Amino acid sequence: MKTNLRDLTYGELEELIISLGEPRFRAKQIFSWLYRGVASFDEMTNIPKSLKCRLLEDYSVSLITIEEKYVSRLDETRKYLLKLDDGNYIESVLMKYHHGYTVCVSSQVGCRMGCAFCASTIGGRIRNLTPSEIIGQVMAAEKDIGERISNIVMMGIGEPFDNFDNVMKFLENVSHPDGLNIGHRHITVSTCGLADKIRELAHRAPQITLSISLHAANNETRSQIMPVNRKYSIEALLDACRYYIENTNRRVSFEYTLIAGVNDNTAAASKLYNLLKGMLCHVNLIPVNAVSETGFEKADKAQVEAFRAYLEKHGISATIRREMGSDINAACGQLRRNRLQTNNNK
Ligand code: SAH
Repeated sequence: MKTNLRDLTYGELEELIISLGEPRFRAKQIFSWLYRGVASFDEMTNIPKSLKCRLLEDYSVSLITIEEKYVSRLDETRKYLLKLDDGNYIESVLMKYHHGYTVCVSSQVGCRMGCAFCASTIGGRIRNLTPSEIIGQVMAAEKDIGERISNIVMMGIGEPFDNFDNVMKFLENVSHPDGLNIGHRHITVSTCGLADKIRELAHRAPQITLSISLHAANNETRSQIMPVNRKYSIEALLDACRYYIENTNRRVSFEYTLIAGVNDNTAAASKLYNLLKGMLCHVNLIPVNAVSETGFEKADKAQVEAFRAYLEKHGISATIRREMGSDINAACGQLRRNRLQTNNNK
């Protein structure tokens, strides 16, 4: 298959153009066209035909298409099932907040991290997404609503740091002034805890908001529900977070999914407090979304509120994640999963 031109960074595109004996400014022109949403070389009206033919031999500029779309009646959240060129499916979610639109994007087809509560990991990892497929999700959402996206969260299907190089390229192109021009301060990357990459991120993209899926405050429970913890313990993970904070001065977010009877009691809240005290951080509490295959259930409302109150009382800022798009199954991984099951039953 041809390489999508959006897989190249600005610098790489410049090198390519120069290697073809063309003037450097052509790279700027082409790069701008790419992120204005052209889906064919024909649409690049100020580029000579000879150059377009040359590029067409090895490169494509195709965009990913929305296969299915669900719009929430409750809060206008939009959930997309997207089809990739090779027939694989991914998901993204568009949420409307008072400050603008946020899109939640996927980073891999499937996931190999094996978290016990998560729908995305059930069939394992099929492959990494390319930079163009990651940015293509943002472009598809912008096209669908006809408005600019202001914020991006990488909390869809996949583990971004298990696809580190492509995610770094995506971050470069999405923030480039001739790209989508969305600054790193408006982007959150969420990881299940690949500590080495957290340290690397501190130098590669220090303006990003880092979000850590913690979900348990002791190693025994965390290793049970998140196998990655057997490689990077809570201590190793938090050391990397402290390193990130020291080097970037940025507040880290911790996601903590409350699962009934697993990690939702006051003893767990107290452990969490002990781990995080003194850190520049914020805790997001998420009542777990029931996924039929996992058997986990939501902690009850009073328990979630008590957990939050405990943290706040001890000086750790904590909020309960507002559920969005609850009428359209907006938790990531479930649409793709349903589609794969339907296809298998055919
Ligand atoms: N792999 C990355 C990003 C994708 S998951 C990560 O682990 O952070 C995005 C968030 O959704 C993570 O915090 C993940 O733990 C959480 N999540 C996954 N399944 C969930 C479920 N059933 N209910 C609530 N949150 C879930």
